[in-house]
Amino acid sequence: MFFKLCLLMAALKTMEKWPNLYLGSRINTDIKKAEICKLANKVRSTTAHGLEEKIDIDSIAKLGRFRPVYSRYLKNSTIWALLIGLDNDAFQIALQPNKTEEAGQIRRYLMAHEIAHSFGYVRRQGERPRRFFNGPNIFWEERFCEEFARQLLVPREAIPNFKNAEEISRHFDVTRQLARLAISAKPMVKQTSNGYEYVMDLS
Ligand SMILES: [Zn+2]
Repeated sequence: MFFKLCLLMAALKTMEKWPNLYLGSRINTDIKKAEICKLANKVRSTTAHGLEEKIDIDSIAKLGRFRPVYSRYLKNSTIWALLIGLDNDAFQIALQPNKTEEAGQIRRYLMAHEIAHSFGYVRRQGERPRRFFNGPNIFWEERFCEEFARQLLVPREAIPNFKNAEEISRHFDVTRQLARLAISAKPMVKQTSNGYEYVMDLS
């Protein structure tokens, strides 16, 4: 009995709650990089991942009630992934089917990016997540999501412990390009004359 109780307590200790990180319309503003990194680290620690650990994106998605699916509707589309609110405080993450060698790593990166978008939604138990605004400048939101994804997958605090992009790519299970971007710390999204452009090239 005592043993069973200990097991139960250990299970409760690791089963954390999804962090309440509602940003509202702030998601469409210039949030400081340090704050974005802090939010990503909070999600990381909520799922009991250390800063030098490769994350299990599916356990993070499960805790946050995100359901990833490859969607045939996105096949041959210019959209790589979409976040869709579902009943009962859940989301679907629709992903473009991918059969390349890097498919698993691209899936991890896109899921991290879409999870970041969820912080612009109000989430209540039993209800469909809702957004109460449409940002005038989606550039900032995309920048937020890209920074969040990079930090969640490759925390900047861990980078000095690795020799090169190759090692980071292997250890954290990310594409070489993302590993290089993590080392350079360069912006992930660029402003252009007609909007914005992602630095990550998934084509
Ligand atoms: Zn996005």
